[in-house]
Amino acid sequence: MSQRTLVLLKPDTVRRGLVGEVLRRYEAKGLTIVAMEHRAIDAEQADAHYAEHVEQPWYPPLRAFATSGPLVSLVLEGDEAIAVVRALNGATDGRAAAPGTIRGDLSLSNRENLVHASDSEESAAREIALWFPSLA
Ligand code: ADP
Ligand code: MG
Repeated sequence: MSQRTLVLLKPDTVRRGLVGEVLRRYEAKGLTIVAMEHRAIDAEQADAHYAEHVEQPWYPPLRAFATSGPLVSLVLEGDEAIAVVRALNGATDGRAAAPGTIRGDLSLSNRENLVHASDSEESAAREIALWFPSLA
């Protein structure tokens, strides 16, 4: 079943010059980029994106990180794209993520873990509407 999922290449990906490396992995897998934007976000957009996490003790430093510089937002499309992209990204904590995944190969942090991807059809619909209203 073809799906769309919302992906962020977080500010660490941009700062470290890894945008091409990360996009290469998604494209090599066979996923299609249907929208993409390089932009900076403010605290309001960060809070809306991470609405489920704003009460967490680790949220204030996550918000500071998310707003610390430009990021790349994109929508990927393909068969089972939501689960496929989560698998390519790897576990949340880069120190524990499996080798072969984006986080497992390229991140050593549980906060600066390079990428975000929607975790369900519901979150994909919500996040695509938030980041790319013209696609919703
Ligand atoms: P995922 O991005 O894998 O879906 P979560 O939705 O649980 O993970 O968390 C959102 C983001 O918050 C993570 O990608 C990471 O950047 C950050 N984060 C999650 N847990 C922690 C934590 N314990 N300490 C610091 N940052 C965290
Ligand atoms: Mg999540």
